[in-house]
Amino acid sequence: MPSSINRPRGTIDVLPGEVEKWQYVEESFRRICREYGYAEIRTPVFEYTELFDRGVGETTDIIEKEMYTFLDRSERSLSLRPEGTAPIARAYVEDKLFSGPQPVKVYYQGPMFRYDRPQAGRYRQFHQLGIEVFGAFSPAIDAEVIAMSMDFCRRFGLKLDLHINSVGCGVCRPVMREKLYAGLRTRLEDLCEDCRLRLERNPLRILDCKEKRCRGMAEEAAAGLNFLCPECGDHFEKVRNYLDVLDVKYIVDHCLVRGLDYYTRTAFEIMAPGIGAQRSVGGGGRYDGLVEMFGGPPTPGIGYAMGLERLLLVMQEQGLPVPCSGRLDVYIVTAEAELEGKALRLLQELRGNGMHADKDYAGRSMKAQLKQAGKSGAPFVVILGSDELRRGKVALKDMLSGSQTEVPLADLVATVTGEIDTHFTKVRRFKG
Ligand code: AMP
Repeated sequence: MPSSINRPRGTIDVLPGEVEKWQYVEESFRRICREYGYAEIRTPVFEYTELFDRGVGETTDIIEKEMYTFLDRSERSLSLRPEGTAPIARAYVEDKLFSGPQPVKVYYQGPMFRYDRPQAGRYRQFHQLGIEVFGAFSPAIDAEVIAMSMDFCRRFGLKLDLHINSVGCGVCRPVMREKLYAGLRTRLEDLCEDCRLRLERNPLRILDCKEKRCRGMAEEAAAGLNFLCPECGDHFEKVRNYLDVLDVKYIVDHCLVRGLDYYTRTAFEIMAPGIGAQRSVGGGGRYDGLVEMFGGPPTPGIGYAMGLERLLLVMQEQGLPVPCSGRLDVYIVTAEAELEGKALRLLQELRGNGMHADKDYAGRSMKAQLKQAGKSGAPFVVILGSDELRRGKVALKDMLSGSQTEVPLADLVATVTGEIDTHFTKVRRFKG
């Protein structure tokens, strides 16, 4: 017998039963995006490697260690996307979205790929839900983007902490870099191997190191530094004021830099309370230079991305129910084998009226069919029996209460539709 083949390390199969939770989160995301005026954008899963080198930053962990990069048959270097912002900024330029009405507000959802050490909440293929806004300078949009990400989490009942910071701009950020460089240069031997290199190439990255010791040293070196130029300082103050107006609570964290180089000014991260390694549920910020870096006109940008797997993990940790609607509304049971054709016709009619309906196809006894009906999770079962059918009737069983009534066959679709609506208004907290 040939040996079996497993899925690649760091990936998961989302099976029926679990996938409904994913759909629920994805659908909730779509809904909130539409409410806030965002339209969906879909870009390729792979891009030319230089897009990420240039956009995400050559000295970031993502580019240095985590990209899935390969040569295609024409020897061009391609990479599976590790994040969504650079591809969308590329599309904004390539598809000339800058020539239409501004701002352009888009959302996306889909798989991202990073070669990292897999553990709970960290995968090599994971899924992000994100938004991007191009062409808006106002600090009001920063506040709205942050508030929307928190609103999305709040709708699930999640209790999360919001950390915000301003990482400054091309004018004032070098002051921060200098301060870090000066503070850490004398303690080189205490830094991890990666951070020794980072100190020369991009000292801000040390604030983001996975080693707690390195982060602590960088935090010490940066402590008390107010490096923001007046414009960046003013922008950050306004963002905070608007967040106050919107009643969004936040923690100002001067060491929050995030793992990608393109951020300017506002940076934020949404964290699950606690001490787990994978606390970050989502994050984002402003990237005012990115579009220009890709050859587009000077255009401000801001966005965020949330991790779908992390959201579900934290929901589970916080004991939040993920409404998982049963896959079926109605199950049909036949008392006699000759009624199979009638059952098939009725199934099609129910489905044609928008109901999720199914039956047994294994030739089981009526008792066994009823057992299957129970397992299917359908709240209603229609039982076809020749005696009842002769009188133009069928039996309708409510699986929740166990009660059974006779319904005229001609009224069945209308009756079941009504019953299903009442049932799901009672059962479903969120209906798509
Ligand atoms: P980032 O693009 O690094 O800012 O990540 C945004 C969000 O994506 C994080 O807050 C996580 O929720 C999620 N995420 C990032 N990397 C992974 C990963 N390897 N596995 C699962 N989720 C991830």
